[in-house]
Amino acid sequence: MAPRFVADCMVGRLAKWLRAFGYDVTYHPFAEDAQLTAWAREKDAILLTRDTMLARRKGLRIIFVKDDRLEDQLRQVAEETPLDLSQARPLTRCLVCNHLLEPAPRETVRARVPPYVYATQDHFMRCPSCRRIYWRGTHAGRIQERLARLAGRAE
Ligand SMILES: [Zn+2]
Repeated sequence: MAPRFVADCMVGRLAKWLRAFGYDVTYHPFAEDAQLTAWAREKDAILLTRDTMLARRKGLRIIFVKDDRLEDQLRQVAEETPLDLSQARPLTRCLVCNHLLEPAPRETVRARVPPYVYATQDHFMRCPSCRRIYWRGTHAGRIQERLARLAGRAE
């Protein structure tokens, strides 16, 4: 099974990209340390943190994120977890609230997406929680590209 993550407030961008790859990442920018560790326990998740104090907690799986650069952060996570990037399922999860996306029939999103997008895309997905609409446009291209680059490096 794919690992799950809990991310602290200092690695929000990393959290978002892991979600873009399809991983389950619990992230709330204002969560306290006690809440983060409780979530990590509850969900049997790996805690991603840049906080040296938090990183010393016992009894949890923790990755102390060393770098500032997103690319390096992603690589570190890929190296320190059994993260099989070839099994990643990009664009299956809401980037904002982490929910799994569900298919949205094309005609139902007409008023919710730019006319150009509606005219050029056939498949849409929707977040059941925040109702955001997703589609495989340029965004998906960027995600696939980064994923391929990371997977290539990890080998
Ligand atoms: Zn959402």
